[in-house]
Amino acid sequence: MELFMPSRAFFEPGALEYPLGRKLYDQLTARGIPVRITPSHNRVHGIPGETPQIAYREAKRTLVVGVKKILKLDSCRPSADYEFALVTSCPGGCQYCYLATTLGRKPYVRIYVNLDEIFAALQKYIDQNRPAITSFEAASTGDPLAVEHLTGSLRKTIDFFGEQEYGRLRVVTKFANVDGLLAAEHRGHTKFRFSINSAYVINTFEAKTAPLAERLAAAGKMAAAGYPLGFIIAPLFLYEHWQADYRQLLEDLAVWLRPHHPPSLSFELISHRFTARAKKIILERFPQTKLEMNEAKRKLKWGKYGYGKYLYPPTQLETLKSWFTQEIGRLFPQAEIEYFT
Ligand code: SF4
Repeated sequence: MELFMPSRAFFEPGALEYPLGRKLYDQLTARGIPVRITPSHNRVHGIPGETPQIAYREAKRTLVVGVKKILKLDSCRPSADYEFALVTSCPGGCQYCYLATTLGRKPYVRIYVNLDEIFAALQKYIDQNRPAITSFEAASTGDPLAVEHLTGSLRKTIDFFGEQEYGRLRVVTKFANVDGLLAAEHRGHTKFRFSINSAYVINTFEAKTAPLAERLAAAGKMAAAGYPLGFIIAPLFLYEHWQADYRQLLEDLAVWLRPHHPPSLSFELISHRFTARAKKIILERFPQTKLEMNEAKRKLKWGKYGYGKYLYPPTQLETLKSWFTQEIGRLFPQAEIEYFT
């Protein structure tokens, strides 16, 4: 797939004081991309959009470049100890995007440029926790690989963790442009996971992400470069033929794996859930969506941020969990299932 290039960009004035901010500014203006200054990366005015559909589409074509000011990290269970952000959002158009609740009507692609300050914050957390190993998720607020060709930030972050005896990085992506990461000094300290799903889910709900074949080709390159590898199957949907579709996915994956020898292989399994806020936003953006979001068929679970999530009911969750546990065990006996949620 083509690499992302925004239709317009907004810069916080402070971002231009950092080398990455300057580099992005020069790069985009040299290409003739309209660039404006915004007082804050949180309040961006001037993205076109007369309807929610157009506003969403144009926001996803907009790059906002800013400075990350709050460097206190949130926990990120069950994926890692903490999460941090190099970017928020991504140019992809997944209808179910798990960021709909938090990003709300600001789904523009945001890049943070103060890398050294972000690394200093990570270092503090690592040092406070040593000699225990501390793990950090870099993709819970967006997909940093989607803009890596513009930023180079992920490569620098992988190099940073390569030097950390007590720190580990975790990244997950639906994109495939990994070439710039293959020579990084990762020393096995970065675990790369590719988010995959059945052909039906990818084709129906995951617009503007890399096709599955490209994600798997990228996974092969990362395995050859010695990265610990994982696959996240998320969101897991219960729909007609789900077992046949997911079995096909896992069998294709097993065939793909034969010539590849990642140092380790794991799966993370995340069932579909939605919030009331996300449902409202999704229906505005995709009025014809085939996403099943019927509260009556779900179980409401209250989360730590004070809002409820509609999960599949316990019996259906158990069906999903036991089916995937059995099939993954059959096809990938060496792999670890890190969690099902
Ligand atoms: S790739 Fe991830 S962050 Fe981007 S739209 Fe899809 S779910 Fe959201």
